[in-house]
Amino acid sequence: MRFALFGPPGAGKGTQTALLQQMFGLQSVSTGNLIRAAILEDSPFGRELNAYIQDGGLVPDEIVQILAEAHLTNCGFKQFVLDGFPRTVVQANWLHSLLRSKNAPLQAVISIVVPDEVILERLSQRRIHKITCESYHLTLHPPPPDIDPDLIVHRSDDRVEAIQVRLATYAKMTQPVSDYYRSVGLLTEISGVGTNIEIRDRIVDVLEKRSVIQVV
Ligand code: AMP
Repeated sequence: MRFALFGPPGAGKGTQTALLQQMFGLQSVSTGNLIRAAILEDSPFGRELNAYIQDGGLVPDEIVQILAEAHLTNCGFKQFVLDGFPRTVVQANWLHSLLRSKNAPLQAVISIVVPDEVILERLSQRRIHKITCESYHLTLHPPPPDIDPDLIVHRSDDRVEAIQVRLATYAKMTQPVSDYYRSVGLLTEISGVGTNIEIRDRIVDVLEKRSVIQVV
């Protein structure tokens, strides 16, 4: 089972990735999480990455590709869900060649569609657990009271100004990736508005229809 979740920041790709991992025992390749893990190490490389992401821009393709390839190699190229990768047409072409060389092509790309005003509300209210990367919403899904509040952070790129840059970057650099996957027949769009379980079920439905998973 090899597929990608695609969509703007705040579409719920990370939340859905976690739900699908639980359901199918998949490995996930989340380039955002890989980048944040490298930043936490506080090395010169981490500081370089932080400078790219904090104002809402993208990390250069070559760096993201190195991180993604190392992680995909650990996953053995068998069962994975991609979260937030590829984000540029260059990355999509590179990924296509890599997966073809491993005889493990993508089977589906699911684009989660969410209006900008919903994204702005979600991300400005989002808080993240520093260690587990679990995502909370201050009113709809607040962090449990027994968690150390110092571990719950507001990502610097979830500030309103950075969100606006991320949405503009998405429109310019990432939206064309959906045209690429549409042209090769892999893309299906679903609505990303609803409960987490409703959205998960829409994704599972697409995976069944595309025979990525078997209905028993
Ligand atoms: P995310 O958690 O997926 O929203 O990613 C957070 C930030 O990491 C993004 O705003 C980008 O700056 C960077 N990033 C994550 N994935 C990629 C990617 N595939 N290509 C370039 N930059 C990325």
